Amino acid sequence: MTKYDIPFNRPCFVGNEQEYIARSIATGNISGDGLFTKKCTELFERELGVPKVLLTTSCTHALEMAALLLDIQPGDEVLVPSFTFVTTATAFVLRGARPVFADIRPDTLNLDESKLDALITPRTKAIVPVHYAGVASEMDAILGIANRHGIPVVEDSAHGLFGKYKGKCLGTFGQLAAQSFHETKNFTCGEGGALLVNDLQYAARAEIIREKGTNRSSFFRGEVDKYTWVDVGSSYLLADILAAFLYAQLEGREEIEAKRRRVWNTYYEGLKDWAEERGVQLPFVPPYCEQPYHLFYILLPSSEQQQAFIAYLRSRGIQSTFHFLPLHLSDMGRKFGGRPGDCPVTEDASYRLVRLPFYNDLTEEDQNRVVAAVKEAKLA
Ligand SMILES: *Cc1c(COP(=O)(O)O)cnc(C)c1O
Repeated sequence: MTKYDIPFNRPCFVGNEQEYIARSIATGNISGDGLFTKKCTELFERELGVPKVLLTTSCTHALEMAALLLDIQPGDEVLVPSFTFVTTATAFVLRGARPVFADIRPDTLNLDESKLDALITPRTKAIVPVHYAGVASEMDAILGIANRHGIPVVEDSAHGLFGKYKGKCLGTFGQLAAQSFHETKNFTCGEGGALLVNDLQYAARAEIIREKGTNRSSFFRGEVDKYTWVDVGSSYLLADILAAFLYAQLEGREEIEAKRRRVWNTYYEGLKDWAEERGVQLPFVPPYCEQPYHLFYILLPSSEQQQAFIAYLRSRGIQSTFHFLPLHLSDMGRKFGGRPGDCPVTEDASYRLVRLPFYNDLTEEDQNRVVAAVKEAKLA
């Protein structure tokens, strides 16, 4: 493996992670739903304004729970953007659904709401918008279409924690939403996630599905005197040791946000004029969106430049990367009927996009090196 002076990502710590893990151990309960799970859950419910939050082992698992809650059956269709991480689709495919890939908007790289109506059929059982880079999808339009057809919306908000759309937190728009605390996300515990339940008709069953199909959560609250097998389910609880790590990160929210804002703004200011002169597209944030500064990308003028550009940065000790190969053109996507040309904006953006190193503790000095190298790379 190449060793980089400036890696693409590096997990960053705010300070209390080890102390809180020690405290979790001291409680005598390091499995799910312990002291720190409760603290994280309450914090999310309060700060996001979500009626019920359940910590999970990953965002992928939160999406799998959503698929179970929506009772997705073989042959059902689920509308997902082609430009996303695989598990936006696989969580539903696992239940037998057929992913229907929608193209993205060229400005925010989010689901193109104008394409949805044409893709909806009587079998469509969910629409799954992704807030790419933490910039909101067009939720008014998407919810309008979904409601008109009576189709539930599941937000994949893996990038979107604490981002807002028209003043309201991401993850609060869909009936259900999923968060990620993977190492590469803004707030992390290594691997972890959360299911946000905005429509309380799903709340009781969500607890059961997360607890292996049992009513153990009700039992722990003293609502039933024994717990038993009542439904389908799996093991989706985050260990409290990891929740302890996550809680330390959440308490450091202001510091994390300030650092990430600085990193993002330094890239934007440093590359704005260069990008304009060279026909390079920088991230677009609509005025009614507040982004959580999850990542920074540039869109090169042509797809032939991407690999050479990444290789040039590598030669300068800088790790950059592409993002999201079009799902409809993946081996699995093709099995579901994906063909070149189905999602032209996705195909175009995917092969022109380069993500730059982005982590909380990226120093200004290292960032200046990245900006300088970017400007020196040949674009012809
Ligand atoms: C990271 C990511 C996921 C998966 O998150 P895990 O917690 O690793 O399961 C899903 N969707 C998107 C858009 C992501 O970026």
